[in-house]
Amino acid sequence: MAETKRNPNWTRDEHLVALDFYLDNRDDYFSPSGEGVLALTADIGKVARALGLTGSDTFRNPSGASMKLLNFRSHDPQHDTKGLPQGNKLEQVVWNEFANNPTALKRVVANILNVTNAAMANDTPVLPEDDATEAREGQLLTRLHRYRERNTAIVKRKKASFLKKHGHLCCEACGFDFQKVYGERGDGFIECHHTKPVSELEAGETTKLADLVLLCANCHRMVHAARPWWTIEELSASIG
Ligand SMILES: [Zn+2]
Ligand SMILES: [Zn+2]
Repeated sequence: MAETKRNPNWTRDEHLVALDFYLDNRDDYFSPSGEGVLALTADIGKVARALGLTGSDTFRNPSGASMKLLNFRSHDPQHDTKGLPQGNKLEQVVWNEFANNPTALKRVVANILNVTNAAMANDTPVLPEDDATEAREGQLLTRLHRYRERNTAIVKRKKASFLKKHGHLCCEACGFDFQKVYGERGDGFIECHHTKPVSELEAGETTKLADLVLLCANCHRMVHAARPWWTIEELSASIG
């Protein structure tokens, strides 16, 4: 018996791209052969491939995109005709997070598509997944954030400038000083967090020193431990 290869579920990134299209075309029939749905399908396919996903011949096809859009309609209070029964709870999640903020969503989606194109052209190295909780804005922008804060050149400069100013390295939220606690082994050890909102991360732009803060490993993990990620102000306020 021939085994059918299962296509991977839609990611948050793909849901965001589709939701943006839905909000621009709320009253459409979303015919799978319509120009808009075909263009959306092409974008979704690119985003999925930039995330390293692959599938069978039916991977990210126009019927699937059309169905996704109709599923969004079932969450839309502007439509009393219910769409298809919801297939994926991410539809509800991204609807709740972004449907009332189409301008922010549009920017996020433009950035996702830019990162996708850059990743396809191999311009922007995309790190493998790590333990950070995926940002509301999806996996591609999460990876771009993590890449930026691990970029050794700018991180080195940030540490050097902090050291010059303060005479030692420590967490800017809780004050933890690795060298003080762990001795020589902790010398020079601290993480960098990129403070620019994920929604505003663009492919190819240069990180500024002012975009980075030094955080200890605990504080940095807490920032990324849940959605939405904490701002530095929220992190500091949480420390009793
Ligand atoms: Zn800390
Ligand atoms: Zn970070």
